[in-house]
Formats: sequence, structure tokens, C-alpha cells
Amino acid sequence: MFAMRPVVFLYFVFFSFVAHSGSRADEWKSGIEWKVPRVVDPGPVGGPPADATVLFDGTDMSAFDGGEKWKIKDGYVVANESGISSRQPFGDCQLHLEFASPLEDQGTGQGKGNSGIYLMGRYEVQILDSYKNETYPDGQAAAIYKQSPPLVNASRSPGQWQTFDIIFRSPRFSDDGNVLRPASITVLHNGVVVQNHFKLEGSTAWDSPPAYRPHADKLPFHIQYHGDPVRFRNIWIRELDSGAEKIETKDASATGNATPPQQVELWDETVPHARGTAPEDRPFIDVYLPAADKAVGTGIIIFPGGGYGALAKGHEGHAIAEWLNSLGIAAFVCDYRHRGKGYGHPAPLVDAQRAIRLVRQRAEEWNLQSEKIGVMGFSAGGHLASLTATHFDAGNPAAVDPVDRMSSRPDFLVLGYPLVALGKPYTHARSQRHLLGENPDPQLLEMLSSEKQVSKDTPPVFLWHTGEDTGVVPEHSVAFYLALRKAGVPAELHIYERGRHGLGLARSVPAVSDWTDRCTVWMQNRGLLPQND
Ligand code: MG
Repeated sequence: MFAMRPVVFLYFVFFSFVAHSGSRADEWKSGIEWKVPRVVDPGPVGGPPADATVLFDGTDMSAFDGGEKWKIKDGYVVANESGISSRQPFGDCQLHLEFASPLEDQGTGQGKGNSGIYLMGRYEVQILDSYKNETYPDGQAAAIYKQSPPLVNASRSPGQWQTFDIIFRSPRFSDDGNVLRPASITVLHNGVVVQNHFKLEGSTAWDSPPAYRPHADKLPFHIQYHGDPVRFRNIWIRELDSGAEKIETKDASATGNATPPQQVELWDETVPHARGTAPEDRPFIDVYLPAADKAVGTGIIIFPGGGYGALAKGHEGHAIAEWLNSLGIAAFVCDYRHRGKGYGHPAPLVDAQRAIRLVRQRAEEWNLQSEKIGVMGFSAGGHLASLTATHFDAGNPAAVDPVDRMSSRPDFLVLGYPLVALGKPYTHARSQRHLLGENPDPQLLEMLSSEKQVSKDTPPVFLWHTGEDTGVVPEHSVAFYLALRKAGVPAELHIYERGRHGLGLARSVPAVSDWTDRCTVWMQNRGLLPQND
């Protein structure tokens, strides 16, 4: 038995040798005739490679729309006034950029060094100072905003330069608008992989769930201005060829999006106070009409909140419009100008007044009674709505533009957790700063504090707020209510004990969700909705 062992051993060694040496096997080949990859000089460490398009080399921002507003200094550029967009559109790409949080270490949470790279203008890789700065994980630096936190936090300390290398694949849509292939993003933050081919569920927004809306294969990318002087340098991009990749033509993930509402610009031609002619300089309304057999002839222009720095068009716009449509009320979500688009006072008010005149002028076309046109606003949008109720005119009968002949006075107001009073210790400071800057004129503060501007001509108001709102405290609604009461203006006020700021329809919040029913009854009692039998 012992004699067998060396034989087994030798047998094993022999076959191992054959397998490894390849002397008996043939090389496997794919059979594909590969193109020889072209040569690219990678350039210095950190790039740009020879085939990259350099968008900012430290001297010139002309590759960006709005780039002239950003301040170039010592080889970098500082975000200022409003966001910028690449003049050239891009699809699949590799994007490199370097950023540093503001020199002055300021703010906390989302208010610290906030910016963002919006691929195709709609898919955001967040920029934030996330070094020892707590915020929600899907909103920290290198997060795909509200969809995917980074795998790790690779942030450098405030003021240091950091790199983003983003590899992006654009989504593809079928002719009928279905998603054939979702967008995907890989991100290296300071050389560390933090997003690994993440497949996006749709565009990223602060106020609404991800959703795809069909768009072109190439679009400009956008760099956000969020009020923070974030610095940028070495921005270059390489377009990637998606090759002969086969894309399934079946519907991969229908999004269930309803038909987008009709969009109507507030001015056909010249926009008053406009800084340019980019989309952000052209305010508009989204028109949501109820089913013709349900329409009651009442229309409401909705002003979403967003602290005069953004617009919460989801839960304070679209969702509200759908609810109003269900009651037979036509809704118009106003996309007014604000600081995020580079505008403070008076642009938001001018836009709001114009929206009211425009809806009134087109009342017949939209099946409305011109004396049943109200406004509804939330948070800062509530402030804007309150301004329209305290600053209005009957229109100019001699105006060339028929819209300008209309009255800008709303027939009624519905305000949800509104900002009302400026210049007070309880004022929402960020909204006031976005509207009026750091040191506003006291007279302007007075004029734009709606509780001080109420008269007997102010239209009737429905107000609701929550006691736990620390963003915009209920004192605003109380002050407005008392002023309305003093002036003899019909008003109704509801303050719910529980509930945070910014609840919108508050569908899932016990007690607060009651406000839509209370508001419905109020509108019935004012003849804006038919009475229940
Ligand atoms: Mg951001």
C-alpha cells in the first residue's frame, strides 16, 4: 500500500504542469476585431487630459452662461448671484472639477458651503462642506441628492481644495417618453469612490420624489449658486462615446408621470427687471385645469415657498394644484423669480402681480369667473401672496398690453404657514436676506410687512399654521389675523398645536391634515365652491 503514494503524487504534478504551461491547450480568443484604442496624453496629475474640453482654467468663464457674474481671483472663481450653465450641452461624460468651501467658515447643515453639479441641468451631485457638519446623509457632499448618500465621507476640512471626478451616463428615452435606460453616476471624491455606478430614479429635487421627464440626449450642466461663495477651479470635461451599446427597446421603468401641465410665460417679450434672457430670467405659470365637467369657475394662483431662494414646486405646488383640481378649481403654479435665480425685490412681487393679471385676462379661455381669482401661498410664497393682497391696482385701461389692463387684486387668499412680518426678531432671516439683502431700508421693511399694510380693501383670508413651526413661527399668522380683524376684513385662522414647518397638504400628519377640509368649507361659505347638499 505504501508503494502507491509516490505514483499518485507524480501523476498530480504532471497534470498541473501541463495545465499551467499551456503546452497542450489553445489560447481562447473572443473572435471580435477590436479597434485599437486611441492614444490620449493624460496630461499632468489631475488633468486635463489632451482630449478634454477645458471649461475653466483659472482665467475665463466664457464657457458658462452666467459665468460673468462669478468672480475670478487667483486662478479660481467664486460662486456669486446665481447659478451658471455650460454653454455646450453634454451627455455621457467624465467631468473633473475642484472646489473649496468659502474661506470664511460659516453656517451649518445645508447652509454650509452648499452648491451642486446638476448633470444635464437636473441630476445633482451635492456640493457641501461636509467636514464634521451634520446633515441628512442623502444631502451631504457627493450625495446624489435625496437618492444616494456617498459610500463614505471623504471630505477635506473647510477651505481646502477638493476634487470631484464624475462619470455620468445620461438616461435614454423612447419616442413615446418611456425610460429605456436610467442615468447612472460614478463619483470619486478626493480620489475615493463614493458613488459606484448608481442608477438614478429620476431628477433630483428638494421638494419632490425623483421622476424622469423625457429630454434630449445632451444638455448643459449647471453649477448651483445656493447663497454660499463656494470656490471652483480646474473644470474640464471629456465626452464619452457610449459605443454600439445595445439598448433594450422595451419600457424598462415607466415613471407614471402625468402629462406635464401647460407652461405659460408671464411676459411674451421683455421681462421687467430681467438680467438676461435665460430660462431663469423668464417667470411662468404651470396651468392645471380641472376636468371640464367638474370646473366651478374659481381659479387660484399658487406661490410655492422656498425662502425666496428656491421654489418648493412639488409639495407646495404640483400637489396643491392636483388637490384644487379635484375640487373643480383651476390652479396656476407660479414660477416666480427669487435669489436662487439672481433676483430680490421687486422681481417676485412684479411676477406675482403679473400672474394674477394674466389669469384674469385669460379667464374666459380657462373657464373662470374673473371675480373668483384668488391666491394661495406657503412660507415665503405666503409672504408673496400677502403682498399681492396689500399692494395692488385696478390695472391701466390705456395699456397697450391687454394683460396690464387687468386688476392685480386677488379676490381671496389662502396662506399656509406664511412669512408675513419683516424686520422683527421672529422674522425668517434667510428669506428676508434673499428678498432684501443684508441691511434693508427700514421703509422697505415696513412696506413689505403685510400686517402693517392691511386696509379695508384687503381681500378675505384663510390662514393656517402649526405651533411647532420653528422655521416660520405662528406669530406671523397671528399678527396678520389681528391686522385683518382690526380692518374689518373677513378672516379665518387655524393654528394646530403639533406639526413642523413646510407640511404642504400634510396628508400624513394627524390633525393638521384637517386644514384642506377647513379651507374647502371656507371656500364654500364664500361662494367659491358649490355647497354640499
Ligand atoms: Mg446643493
